[in-house]
Amino acid sequence: MKITKIIQWDMGHRIQNHRSICRGLHGHRYKAEICIEGSIITEKGLSEEGMVMDFADLKKISNDLILNKMDHGFMVHDEDAEMINFFKNHSGHKPVIVPFVPTAENVSKFIYEELEKEIVKLENKNIKISYIKLWETPTSFAKYNGEKI
Ligand SMILES: [Zn+2]
Repeated sequence: MKITKIIQWDMGHRIQNHRSICRGLHGHRYKAEICIEGSIITEKGLSEEGMVMDFADLKKISNDLILNKMDHGFMVHDEDAEMINFFKNHSGHKPVIVPFVPTAENVSKFIYEELEKEIVKLENKNIKISYIKLWETPTSFAKYNGEKI
C-alpha cells in the first residue's frame, strides 16, 4: 500500500552554468509528493490500526526536515562562489547551501535521502520511501525512487 503527503514551499535558486535564463536568480513554487509504502498496520487498538503511517507523523517529519528549512530560502550550490560570498556579506536571507547543482533532479534525490534518514529511525520497520516527486513548475517534475542512476 502506498500513501502520499504533499508539501509546498517557495524557494529561489539558480543553475549557475545553465546556457540560458536559468542561470539568473529566480524562484519557484515547489511541490513535493512524498510517497511512503508499507503494509497496513493490523494490531488491534493501536492508534495507527488500518494505516501504513499516520499522515500527521509524515507531515511533521516532512515539515521539520524539508519545508521549514527551505521555505522562503534560496538554495545555493556550495561551489557557486558568487552567491556564497553574497550570503556571507548580507544578513536577513535564508540560504540553503547544498553540495550539488540545485536542479529538480538533485533536489528530489536530496529530499529522498534526508527523509530516509528519519524513516529508518522509526519504530515501524515495515515502511520505506517509495518515491519523491518534485514539481519545479506546474508542468515539470523529477521523480526519484532510490535508484542509483
Ligand atoms: Zn529554476
